[in-house]
Amino acid sequence: MSAPQSAFVSTVLLSGASCRTGSFLPLLEAGAARKRSAAAALHAQQRRVRSARLPLCAKVVGPARPTAPIPKPKDALSDQSGLVNLDLTGSIPRRKTRAVRVGDVYIGGGNPVVVQSMINEDTLDIEGCVASIRRLHEAGCEVVRLTVPSMAHAHAVGFIKQRLRETYRDVPLVADVHHNGMNIALEVAKHVDKVRINPGLYVFEKPDPNRTEYSRADFEAAAQKLKETLKPLILSLREQDKAMRIGVNHGSLSERMLFTYGDTPEGMVESALECIRVCRELDFHNLVISMKASKVPVMMAAYRLLAKRLDQESMDYPIHLGVTEAGDGEYGRIKSSIGIGGLLAEGIGDTIRVSLTEDPVKEIPVCYGILQALGLRRTMVEYVACPSCGRTLFNIEEVLHKVRDATKHMPGLSIAVMGCIVNGPGEMADADYGYVGKTPGKISLYRGREEIRTVPENQGVAELIKLMKEDGVWVDPPASPNASTEPKHDGSSKPATASRQPQASSV
Ligand code: SF4
Repeated sequence: MSAPQSAFVSTVLLSGASCRTGSFLPLLEAGAARKRSAAAALHAQQRRVRSARLPLCAKVVGPARPTAPIPKPKDALSDQSGLVNLDLTGSIPRRKTRAVRVGDVYIGGGNPVVVQSMINEDTLDIEGCVASIRRLHEAGCEVVRLTVPSMAHAHAVGFIKQRLRETYRDVPLVADVHHNGMNIALEVAKHVDKVRINPGLYVFEKPDPNRTEYSRADFEAAAQKLKETLKPLILSLREQDKAMRIGVNHGSLSERMLFTYGDTPEGMVESALECIRVCRELDFHNLVISMKASKVPVMMAAYRLLAKRLDQESMDYPIHLGVTEAGDGEYGRIKSSIGIGGLLAEGIGDTIRVSLTEDPVKEIPVCYGILQALGLRRTMVEYVACPSCGRTLFNIEEVLHKVRDATKHMPGLSIAVMGCIVNGPGEMADADYGYVGKTPGKISLYRGREEIRTVPENQGVAELIKLMKEDGVWVDPPASPNASTEPKHDGSSKPATASRQPQASSV
């Protein structure tokens, strides 16, 4: 018996039909007849579709579709860097959050996802820190963090902020405060725009290796101590209208959280919720929350649970995403892209930091790459290019480089480079312009889906520029490679202006 017949018999037997009398064979035959008739109808339909398509296939390749519009400034939204975002409202429904101000940048509230990083200089090295913060900011980092392990470091931050204002601009700064850092946090809160605390370390007691349980009374006593220690910082930040990040790390949960919830995403979320509730009791809401872990599945589970719990309790605080200790190189970037990008694709996340064991400036193109790939920010030209195959009519890698070199200064455009006309025009993903192999030595230029002209391959890039000029789309590249608005070849781009506008807060 064939597999379909067997499945059919099983269905009959399960339904109890006629099995007692052994008369299921006529049913089987009737079923087979129905299948033959359905197959004949399907073949007839396929023949009709094929014959209807034949004349079209002879004329054009792929279905005719409307020409993609060329993005114009009026169709775009200004983002916080003065660059442009496509209006992709609705493509990724984002979790609704309130806007939290950090200096002149707003996190959440429907604002573009903010890019952050952290310098690795000793904070006591004031000139070194100023130079690094400036370098990061010029590369496109909108909020810069620095570590503050002692009171001396907290005082140094005041000088760093002052030097930045004098020599560059007032870059939004975040201070990282760790073990038993209340007094340090109170001092540094005077100088920065946001203070990051780690709930597992802010009130730190060395874990007792002989402890076998954590009683309810012990748990509540520790919670009370955390509350009392957080209160002065919360009041100070509230008074100054500054922000706080409650930054939980999987690797530094407090002993009582580990005893109570285990080394789990639930323990991470409860650790944050405890601090959030203290803030809410004191009517302080300038909060951003994070749940970092070095293992991507743990990090993703913790952030998802956080978003769920916040939503359940009607808390609309924005979320800072990151995979901590992601490592370096290709794998560090893959881990960050999956963890951060995966959550952003689910609508979770308002600000991101890619943590690489490399120069922090190298984190910025990764952040922008993640955001651009998801359509959440558009800071560079979107290039669509086929992987090439036996049909490719030119050296596509070389041509892609040439096209990119000629056009990379026009963020907002989408340009396709495709190896042949067989699949190229149909798969250009609605690019604004296409450069497609036509015949050996010839390429065709497209505006959207419309083929405009065929030109010799060695004139392809020049003709593409000419077409853009005819359309009024072309802008000349900045004279200097260091000019303020030019995106770098690696995809990072320098913010051109400080045009940062808050959007509606859901406070
Ligand atoms: Fe090959 Fe043409 Fe597809 Fe490029 S577009 S991969 S050349 S079939």
